[in-house]
Amino acid sequence: MVNEAFNPFKMAQQQFDAVAEKLGLDQATREFLRNPDREYHFNIPIRMDDGTYKVFRGFRCQHSDARGPAKGGIRFHPQETIDTVKALSMWMTWKTAVVDIPLGGGKGGVICDPHNLSMREQEAICRGWVRQIARNVGPLQDVPAPDVMTTGQHMVWMLDEYERITGMKSPGFITGKPLGMGGSLGRTEATGYGAIYCTREALKELGIDITKTTASFQGFGNVSQYAVDLYTQYGGKAIAVSCWDNKEQKSYTYRKLDGIKKTDLMAITNRFGEIDRQKAQDMGFDILPGDAWIEQDVDILVPAAIENQVNAATVNKIHSSVKLIVEGANGPTTPEADEVIKAKGILMIPDFLANAGGVTCSYFEQVQCNMNYYWTKEEVLTKLDEKMTAAYHAVSELARSKKVYMRDAAYMISISRVAEAVKMRGWV
Ligand code: NAD
Repeated sequence: MVNEAFNPFKMAQQQFDAVAEKLGLDQATREFLRNPDREYHFNIPIRMDDGTYKVFRGFRCQHSDARGPAKGGIRFHPQETIDTVKALSMWMTWKTAVVDIPLGGGKGGVICDPHNLSMREQEAICRGWVRQIARNVGPLQDVPAPDVMTTGQHMVWMLDEYERITGMKSPGFITGKPLGMGGSLGRTEATGYGAIYCTREALKELGIDITKTTASFQGFGNVSQYAVDLYTQYGGKAIAVSCWDNKEQKSYTYRKLDGIKKTDLMAITNRFGEIDRQKAQDMGFDILPGDAWIEQDVDILVPAAIENQVNAATVNKIHSSVKLIVEGANGPTTPEADEVIKAKGILMIPDFLANAGGVTCSYFEQVQCNMNYYWTKEEVLTKLDEKMTAAYHAVSELARSKKVYMRDAAYMISISRVAEAVKMRGWV
């Protein structure tokens, strides 16, 4: 729900306005980019399992397709709002631009709660969503993907409906599909690995040997598991991860000072990224309060759980040993905390760069689908490394040459790239 105090779209516009000002963007380009190109609102009528009819509200927002087809997930959430969808579509534009992939930004959603819907009802919503928007999406227009509470299964239903309507096989219509149904190898690893490719480059720039570093992670879900995996493969020592305990409705930190092995911890973690506390204790982990991950005497912090975790209340707990923060999650750091981090001189790899590995791999999935030729995992991950490394260095060089914070540099690169595309097309 959008309350008076927090409107994500207003926040996205404010962030844009601040960077547009720094870049000296002309008024017409600012007007053009601070609002989405297009937004669609529609009804999705469904016959429920009990025979009654219910009408769900669906959205798709295409913030920008100046650099290529719009790209972004579809969320199923009871509190979905058009302003959340608009904000997320704008952030997707900046994310695809910072990694320089030829896609724009989009997002979609349906106001619904999958917890209270049967699989048949969810399938009907997926197919209904596609029927309403099929003319305005597609591999050359706008490419959806899974997001909050949608999975590979939902993507396959959506693909099937799209192919029925168009009468053609178009696996490039949607990404996040299961392997064998047009999905890409490497997608599971992509976001966590992408964050660690950036970490590796940052440490090189700082003149720090990764094998002599330690790190603490918040979260142990998809992003964090694969971040821990590659970081330890590179010789780093992961000493702590935290995660949510659903039964107790609070988080805990799991610490092992002689180093966590991802495989050991995975064996006692469920599909929601929740660690079995008793088993962890038996394996010799120290069980600490949820916030302890941020207080550890480590070189690197990786918030990879949820938003608003490094904030005014927690930022001063960061140990003086920390040299690098890598934002695996979306929006983990608040603007107040950013100011403290800047003042402490800690290097920050901002979210829409650090976690862009996921969308980059989705782009690779689409490329493979469009060619109908699929790469090996090694090929996917090599290409991902090249993209993430190049993106990291572009942002880092700008940050150094203009003496700006990494987050500001990342925004400056993205917004300049999109503004340039808009200008070259002669739109403003
Ligand atoms: P996930 O659901 O697989 O895992 C989330 C983890 O965070 C779990 O271990 C959970 O226990 C933990 N967690 C939740 N609340 C917590 C709390 N209050 N304190 C400590 N731990 C908590 O999610 P994910 O896919 O790993 O995504 C994590 C973040 O990364 C999200 O912000 C997501 O939007 C972002 N992201 C993910 C991807 C992706 O490809 N998976 C891509 C880009 C961004």
